[in-house]
Amino acid sequence: MLEQVALHTQDYITLEHHYGAKNYKPLDVVLERGAGVWVWDVEGRRYLDFLSAYSAVNQGHAHPRILQALVQQAQKLPLTSRAFRNTQLPLLAQELCELTHYDKMLPMNSGAEAVETALKLARKWGHLVKGVPQGQQEIIACAGNFQGRTITIISFSDEPQYREGFGPFTPGFVTIPYGDADALEAAITPHTVAFTVEPIQGEGGIILPPDGYLQRVRDICTRHNVLFIADEIQTGLGRTGALFATDHEAVRADIVTLGKALSGGFYPVSAVLADASVMSVLRPGDHGSTFGGNPLAAAVAREALKVLVEEGMIDNSQRMGAYLLAQLRRITSPAIKEVRGRGLFVGVELHPAAGGARRYCEALAAAGILCKETHDHVLRFAPPLIITRSELDYALERVERVLTQL
Ligand SMILES: *Cc1c(COP(=O)(O)O)cnc(C)c1O
Repeated sequence: MLEQVALHTQDYITLEHHYGAKNYKPLDVVLERGAGVWVWDVEGRRYLDFLSAYSAVNQGHAHPRILQALVQQAQKLPLTSRAFRNTQLPLLAQELCELTHYDKMLPMNSGAEAVETALKLARKWGHLVKGVPQGQQEIIACAGNFQGRTITIISFSDEPQYREGFGPFTPGFVTIPYGDADALEAAITPHTVAFTVEPIQGEGGIILPPDGYLQRVRDICTRHNVLFIADEIQTGLGRTGALFATDHEAVRADIVTLGKALSGGFYPVSAVLADASVMSVLRPGDHGSTFGGNPLAAAVAREALKVLVEEGMIDNSQRMGAYLLAQLRRITSPAIKEVRGRGLFVGVELHPAAGGARRYCEALAAAGILCKETHDHVLRFAPPLIITRSELDYALERVERVLTQL
């Protein structure tokens, strides 16, 4: 066996720089181990994770129960493909549908695939059920959206960098301002089949729509026979202090996309939820994925959902989120323009004169808090939902120091 030479932070950075595509600009911490809200880098430094892998590790790093489900299923049977049946997918389908009160689920892997699936489902429903002529189905999306990186999804993005050089784009999409229900109603035509929206825009900068927006969206979609697609990939599964962010307005979407925390961070697992009246437009052969619904993914997702509920994480997100928001609002710093959020999904928008959020993220990392800017001026704080008050205090002390002293 070859002797493994100990590599240090700079060695890993150099290797990645040399061999990797440069489609990301990560902070220069090389993480090696995680447990709960904490992660450790290769130099042995400890950090509090205030990003949670963009909300994929809501349950905390390496949750022991999910780990055990993963190992047990990996030892038995990781993959069957959907050519055959397995013992885990039917139980995940039942448990997810019972938890969320939808009739049906469709399993995929990444969030972008769940969004693509929802769009295909809406187009097919629009033709078969609503009667829109084939090929003329329109879907409305919002400015500032982030729903994934496929060509079709970036076709309705208004972020220049996501699109630059990647055309030609998929037709059939219209974008309207976010949070503007009148604009939605005005944009609907007889060919509109769906409206796709994030209940809170995450990558867009933790943007909360005006109160009552989702209820108005629900009402408008119902009146015009347009499907309401809620992208809960980042906001769902407890992140905002409720199972779904739409729950805050007691609204139920027609189609919901889930991903990220559906696996507690162990494995890519995503899903689309809908009632039978919508999901039944799909017949065998219409859509699929080699890995979607595999027994390893399903076993992991089942346990990830169980710990979320049984360990009270959704409630904790609501309580700790309120505390985090209140404490952040007490910080006085000329750098802060606004603090906003819901549950443990919080954005601190900095004044443009503060010189960009990136350098604050770097200073926070040096102080032992890992977070990532979204857009140029917003710090996103989204710790695992298991975080305690004393751990928040630990973070807040450092956040305050960086925000007031940098
Ligand atoms: C992250 C995200 C996606 C895309 O998920 P991937 O797993 O990265 O493909 C889609 N929608 C929202 C709201 C997201 O936050």
